[in-house]
Amino acid sequence: MRRRALTFVPLEHDEQAAVIEWCRDYARFRWPGLCLPNGDFAIYAVPNGGDRNKAVAARLKAEGVNSGVPDLHVPGLRLWIEMKRVKGSVTSDAQKGWHEYLRRIGDTVVVAKGAAEAIRAITSATTLHEPWPRTYFKGKR
Ligand SMILES: [Mg+2]
Repeated sequence: MRRRALTFVPLEHDEQAAVIEWCRDYARFRWPGLCLPNGDFAIYAVPNGGDRNKAVAARLKAEGVNSGVPDLHVPGLRLWIEMKRVKGSVTSDAQKGWHEYLRRIGDTVVVAKGAAEAIRAITSATTLHEPWPRTYFKGKR
């Protein structure tokens, strides 16, 4: 008999949704310089995965959807995040090709195993790309 895994491994969907929730609940207040005019944190998902029938897949491909593009993009940080489950996910060759290309043009690519790693990637990228002008801090510290 096959033994069941002792620990529950959340789906990639749930990990990614947790990152987006953190952006909505925290990041938009913490880094206003990385927000859209409406106040939303500027992050978006690339819809290149998931179940879809052949006709829909062909339409999306015609429109430019490309397999291997990382799951999340934070344009203000030039940061791309490939979401993975905490355990048991592999990076495909198409993904590796995109990562290599994006790094070559100077962007940052992080393969995040779980929401915590993705959140850590966003947080540390913000320290490299100071979202506020230096003058903002004059007299504040
Ligand atoms: Mg993924």
